[in-house]
Amino acid sequence: MEILEQVRGFIDRDHFNLIGGEWTASRSGARISVENPATGEILTEIPSSTSDDVDEAVASARDALDGWRALMPAERARLMWRVGDLIEQHADELAQLDVLDNGKTLGDAMAVDIPLTAEIFRYYAGWVTKIEGRELPVSIPDFHAYTRREPLGVVGAIVPWNFPLLMCGYKLGPALAAGNTIVLKPAEQTPLSALRLGELIGEAGFPPGVVNIVTGDGPGAGAPLSAHTGVDKVSFTGDYETGRKILDASRGNLKRVTLELGGKSPNIVFADADLEAAVEGSFAAVFFNQGQCCIAGARLFAHRDIADELTARLVEKARAVTLGSGLDEATEMGPLVSGVQLARVLGHVDAARSQGAEILVGGERADGELANGHFMRPTVMNNVNPAMNVMQDEVFGPVLAISTFTDEDEAVSLANDVRFGLAAGVWTTDVRRAHRVAAGLQAGTVWLNTYGMFDVAAPYGGFKMSGYGRELGEESLDSYLQTKTVWANLG
Ligand code: ADP
Repeated sequence: MEILEQVRGFIDRDHFNLIGGEWTASRSGARISVENPATGEILTEIPSSTSDDVDEAVASARDALDGWRALMPAERARLMWRVGDLIEQHADELAQLDVLDNGKTLGDAMAVDIPLTAEIFRYYAGWVTKIEGRELPVSIPDFHAYTRREPLGVVGAIVPWNFPLLMCGYKLGPALAAGNTIVLKPAEQTPLSALRLGELIGEAGFPPGVVNIVTGDGPGAGAPLSAHTGVDKVSFTGDYETGRKILDASRGNLKRVTLELGGKSPNIVFADADLEAAVEGSFAAVFFNQGQCCIAGARLFAHRDIADELTARLVEKARAVTLGSGLDEATEMGPLVSGVQLARVLGHVDAARSQGAEILVGGERADGELANGHFMRPTVMNNVNPAMNVMQDEVFGPVLAISTFTDEDEAVSLANDVRFGLAAGVWTTDVRRAHRVAAGLQAGTVWLNTYGMFDVAAPYGGFKMSGYGRELGEESLDSYLQTKTVWANLG
């Protein structure tokens, strides 16, 4: 597909931070290049912001807080609803921006990233008018006590590059509905759709300063935002090592922190599974978005009776994948987001190989016409065991490791033998087993005979070292609110 004229125009424009409703140059004057990972071409440059810019953005979010909180709930809801509509109206454009700097396919962006982001704004628009306190049944005569649900204040939202626009929605939807103001830092690799969203938020009529956007890298802009004592909560999605840094940085003012970190999700296929469905589902579980998903079903546990057939079919499918530019309709998988990411993923594969894994397909970058981009062939390996790094560390790329089990208890214990606990899949036609295994898995989400289902109504987040707090649903809204109890002496 051709790049739309308005997308080209947007990319070619000078890019600034959004502070107090104004597009503002970074005080540092430094810039970061934004690359198209399918071609290696530099698309544009964005401000490389530093703590001075973050200070200004936080101050502007603070200034906007009282006005935003004072707005009638129905009016806040209307503004958020309008953003949902604008995202839908500009879906093609936003999808192309995500394809251009992230590399994902246009089909995925149009089917998942963009509509779900619009839906998030609408879902939380609905919540704005339904945030209620309670009257408390206190056992003291002549006292009236009730709760109010109030916003936390200024929220710092630090998002990753794998779902550039969608991750902004995950943070902004509930934070805004709860009455907070925001400083958003997009990932330095994929800032374009976030900047365009900033324009749409202005067009929707949001008061200046309610949403501020500061671009830059982690150390330059993310670290000062997470340490800022004027920020009341940081909501972060990304690598778990970065999550730890953010937690350390939050200590200064004990800010609230939500961490959505990595995973090493198990996907268990029992011998009684619908094999056709299990093949399709297990393939998408790990290769969707080039495997650059926190929830990637990267460890496949196959019952030994069906392991050979399942493996053979997955290998065949992996071999047949068409790699290419995400804008090309024939493309099934795009490039990885960057050369750095490609090198990391290949490093994981090399380590697995040297520890004894057998690479059945892939395991290398794509060459020929694709050599300028960061393309990697979908990779399937077996001969792995829980002691190997590839079974313990998040790879965040198109790499599937398959091992076998003999009974249900073994499957559950292998699945849980990892420090993460984000998600898990189970394939079986035995309904009782499905729910028994779901109860035994240490994971924030379990999919039964499906994988990767998301809906804004369904809370999402991690057990164990996959983080804490939940995104989406009512639980996410709660995490952007605090309870005030009011006592009145009526005696
Ligand atoms: P990756 O290594 O895959 O890029 P990260 O967790 O580093 O994953 O990136 C996710 C987001 O966190 C990005 O917006 C990035 O700029 C930001 N980030 C990276 N390091 C830090 C840090 N020390 N403090 C705050 N944010 C950071």
